[in-house]
Amino acid sequence: MRRGSDLCLICSGRQDFVVNVHEAGPFERSHDYTRVLYCRACSVGELRSFSYDGFVVFGEEDEVMVWSSVLSAADIDRLRSAFTCPTPLAGGCECPQHVRAYESSVRVNKTRLPEYGPDRHSPAGRTTVTVEVADGLAEFC
Ligand SMILES: [Zn+2]
Ligand SMILES: [Zn+2]
Repeated sequence: MRRGSDLCLICSGRQDFVVNVHEAGPFERSHDYTRVLYCRACSVGELRSFSYDGFVVFGEEDEVMVWSSVLSAADIDRLRSAFTCPTPLAGGCECPQHVRAYESSVRVNKTRLPEYGPDRHSPAGRTTVTVEVADGLAEFC
């Protein structure tokens, strides 16, 4: 089993767990999640996706892949207040708000972080996404 680290990419500090957009696992050989995290020390949030697939054939694809995109503090605030689901940390929730957040999170442009080498999980060059409210539901744009 491989675990994701939800530490801040900039200062390596602990981050607030704002929304668990979608999560499957952790299982013995797979774990996928998309989360919104916020670092109070840096005043920067992020949309983070983690995927561990223990079934990949060696050399074909990386077992672990991590993507991240920056969310400004204002967007984190907007998400906190606009997210209509009462259980934002329930990654298996299939309410309209969770579904909208997940579907829009897949569409937005996230940056794949290197898993190996000196630049592992470097925050450099990340894309930025925003939060908007459409039809009463928060979504990523
Ligand atoms: Zn930080
Ligand atoms: Zn929900």
